[in-house]
Amino acid sequence: MTFDDLPVAPADDPADAAAIIHAILRGLDRYHAPAIGFVIGKRVEAAGEGEGEGTRLLQDWVRRGYDLGNHTYSHLDLNNISANRYERDVISDDSFIAPLMAAAGRHVRYFRFPYNHTGDTPEKHAALAAFLAGRGYTVAPCTIDNEDSIFDQAYIAALRAKDTRSIHEIQAAYLDYTSVEIDYYASVHKQIFGREIPHVMLLHANKLNAGLIDNVLKVFEQKHYRFVSLATAMSDPAYATPDTFVTQFGWMWAYRWAKELGVKVNGNLESEPPGWIKQYAGNAASKIPAPPQ
Ligand SMILES: [Zn+2]
Repeated sequence: MTFDDLPVAPADDPADAAAIIHAILRGLDRYHAPAIGFVIGKRVEAAGEGEGEGTRLLQDWVRRGYDLGNHTYSHLDLNNISANRYERDVISDDSFIAPLMAAAGRHVRYFRFPYNHTGDTPEKHAALAAFLAGRGYTVAPCTIDNEDSIFDQAYIAALRAKDTRSIHEIQAAYLDYTSVEIDYYASVHKQIFGREIPHVMLLHANKLNAGLIDNVLKVFEQKHYRFVSLATAMSDPAYATPDTFVTQFGWMWAYRWAKELGVKVNGNLESEPPGWIKQYAGNAASKIPAPPQ
């Protein structure tokens, strides 16, 4: 299980950070699910009511046995800036996570690209790969996602509008879609590698997952998955597939690996979240002011 945008996703209210982190931790504990959280330094500074609360939340995360990884300081989009500027943003993020991990006798090993944008030109892609390797980082791929951010936006809007019926419908649709996506990505990887591989699930530190973490983990359990660390998942040979494919899009790793290995997969078979979820999120965004950042 991997959680991006710790301690609190950009679309979420920073004041909710503590509730979000603690709810996710309780769910992970209950299911004995190892997890790593990818930290945005800027969101650490913004999180919570008081000075230093963001850091204290990350401290809780580490003390409870979960890992932290680098997700850049300001969540920049590599498509829009130079490799150099981006690298400075990676370095800036280190100070938010390395001391906490060191205090627990661990070191930071993983980096996740915001938006899964890994370099839109061969030069940038190669520059970042070399830079990250040089700093001892392994790129954390992800093999299953469930578009939790778009569901989260709809969910936040429904909560603000006290639209109880929609809250329940959004929750149910999110869990249905999670199940569909797990099965979809399981089958795509079977097609690519000829077998099931250990998966890396992409989620975000948001209000939706705070409310539904137990249900999400239960979906995996019902499908007879068990939970392992990122390192264990990545020890599977599938994760040694070269990463040379260049795209401006935030493709999931199945599509990148399929390109590397010359396997044809049809991405059009992947289901989208229901249209009304996007509509609800979009309509609400235009009517209800966003919380102050
Ligand atoms: Zn992110």
